This record gives sequence, structure tokens and C-alpha cells, in this order.
Amino acid sequence: MTKIDRFGLQTRAIHAGRIEPRIEGAAVLPIFQSSVFEHAGERGDYHDVRYPRLNNLPNQLVLGRRLAALEGAESGLVTASGMAAISTALLAMLGEGGHLLVQDQLYGGTHSFVTHDFRSFGLSFDFIAPDDPAAWRTKLRPTTRAIYVETLTNPLLRVADHRAVVAFAREHGLVSMIDNTFATPVNFRPIEAGFDLSLHSCTKYLNGHNDLVAGAVIGSAEQVLRVKNRLDHLGGSLDPHACYLLERGLKTLVLRVRQQNASALALAERLVAHRAVKCVNYPGLASHANHLRARELFDGFGGMLSFEPRGGVEAARRFLGRVELPVNGPSLGGAETLLTRPVTTSHAGLTPEECTALGIGQALVRVSVGLEDVADLIRDFEQALD
Ligand SMILES: *Cc1c(COP(=O)(O)O)cnc(C)c1O
Repeated sequence: MTKIDRFGLQTRAIHAGRIEPRIEGAAVLPIFQSSVFEHAGERGDYHDVRYPRLNNLPNQLVLGRRLAALEGAESGLVTASGMAAISTALLAMLGEGGHLLVQDQLYGGTHSFVTHDFRSFGLSFDFIAPDDPAAWRTKLRPTTRAIYVETLTNPLLRVADHRAVVAFAREHGLVSMIDNTFATPVNFRPIEAGFDLSLHSCTKYLNGHNDLVAGAVIGSAEQVLRVKNRLDHLGGSLDPHACYLLERGLKTLVLRVRQQNASALALAERLVAHRAVKCVNYPGLASHANHLRARELFDGFGGMLSFEPRGGVEAARRFLGRVELPVNGPSLGGAETLLTRPVTTSHAGLTPEECTALGIGQALVRVSVGLEDVADLIRDFEQALD
């Protein structure tokens, strides 16, 4: 731990893990756009050769340290995408023939990886309901090695009993893994809450500008090294230019997310009060099923919400056609407000019956609240709903 690691979150987002002394005095870390570095000529470990795929460029190393400092962890590793972080971490933690307990509502890419690719790697899984810890025990096998959840589910923003997940993992010697993309370290720091590994799609809030794809794995030095050794072989390393953009985006993370927390709450409250809106899902609303748990666990409720207009799919289509500021697109976490109907994007692979069973209506609209003036967003949403 360095002195900077004990400073406030906003200070860490700018300075933690920086290289000292500054390179040629530059305030900003230069991009190490080189795929070859001089070799000392001594025989060493393969993973120690300096090479971009081996995740040891200065740009990659600084980002790993910075992200670790933001979540109060020992170590961090950046990857070529969120899915590279998730798939590589799962492969590294499950080992040969491992079994995973995994939350039943999952990001689409993770859901596909578990349900389509696990078998070909010799791995197995069982879905668990995040609110029913008593039932998890019945799914345990001798080969169960990890339990996997998401901080907030997509698109209903449900919050699993994260304290029970940590306690269950400790009791049964499992690695606890959490996808913290939706919350960011500003609103939730999984390692401080007892999780072993925190995973991110940095494509979203951590970069925050809707202009790159990246991921991260954060945890103990030992476990992150296990993931790094796998990543070195699988090849999902982050390009130094993308590292530079991500480092630049991270500097404003805290400011952006706090503003998005405030704007999402204000927008959610206005939507609840609108006569053309049937229901609103936002963990900051007292009416949300997991509001109390979210209040206990999180420092903020996040910038994501979803709602259903009255009048079904037609009303949702009309709303999406009339709204002026947001982009109709499936990602999240950037400066531009984004809207999407999950049944046409993230959950397009599910049948209408499967969606209904998950509580995801055909008319549901998901909102990633951006950084526009919230008064302008509210006016725009209201004119499109009226
Ligand atoms: C986007 C996303 C991912 C995947 O990240 P990519 O950077 O697109 O690979 C994983 N988990 C969550 C919660 C996401 O939103």
C-alpha cells in the first residue's frame, strides 16, 4: 500500500499506481506503443518477458494498480473486454472439471458463455436464485469451486443478498466472484465487502465515454496472477492506446458516477409520477423490492433504471421514436443517455415466456442515464410520454 492508496476515491482515480519519477516530467503517462522491449538476455520466466500480450506494459500495469486502489484491493489486471475478464477469470478459478453456482439473472454474454461454452471446457454449473441462500446448499457438489453474482441485475436492478454470498463462499471454501460493472467502485467496493474477485466491463462507467471496449479483474495478488497467467495464453490483453483512453476516462469516474446517481434518482422520481408510466425499476426508490438492501450496501444507487410505459409495446415504440436527446442503443455508462428495449437487444435470445418468467415485459425500456442536464432529460422524457 502506498500513501496515495489511503487518499480519497477521487484522488486515487487520478494518482494511484502512477509511475515515479514521472517519465520525462510528463503529467500524463505516455502511450507505450511498442511491441518489442530490450531483453536482458538472462533466462527467465516466459510471463516476465516485456510484451503487450503478457499484460506488463507500463500502461497496463498502472491501470491495474489504479483499479485495485479504487476497490481497496491488492491487485488488478486490465483485459481486452469485459467478457475477456469474465471468461478468463472463470476458467482460471474453476480449473479442471470445476462446477459453478451462478446467479440466474445474468448479463447476456456471461449467460451465453456459461450455458453454451462451459461443457466444451469440461465445466459445469447450476443456476441459483440470489434471494434464497437456503437453496444454494442443495446445489453444492464436491467439484463446486466458485459462486458468481452481479452487483445489480440487468434490466430490473435487483440486488442479491451479497453478504450471504460472501458468508456462503467462506463457509464452503468457494471463490466468490462478482460483476461490479453496474455499480462501479464509487457505489460499491466488493473486495471491502469480502468478495474474492471483482470483475468489470470497463467499456461502461469506468471509461465512461462510449468509445472503447475493455475489462478488468480485481482481487488478491495471488488470484489476479492466476488470471493473468491464463490471459497471457488466451490473448485477451488490452491495447496500449485503449489503456491511455481508459486511464483518461477514469480520472473523472467519481464526478461522473455521482452526477449519474443524482440524475437517475431525479428522473426515476419524475417517471413514477407520470400518468403514462406503469412502473419504474430503480433501487433508489422506496418502492423497489431491494431498496433497503441497496441502501445498506451501496454508497449510491447508480445511473441505470428501467420503466414500462402504459399502453404496451406500441407505447414503448412511440416513446423511443419521439425522445430526442438519448441514443437508442444497448450499452451503458457513458456521457450520452442510452435507451434500449431489452427484449429486442440484451434479452433477444429469450422467448416471450422466458422474459415474462424473469419479469421482463415486452414494453420495458432500459435507461442508462448520461451526463446531460437532468432538467433537459426530464423535459425530453416528458414530452415523449405526453
Ligand atoms: C457490457 C457488460 C459486460 C461485457 O463487457 P464487454 O466489455 O462488452 O465485453 C459484462 N457484464 C456486464 C454487467 C456488462 O454490462
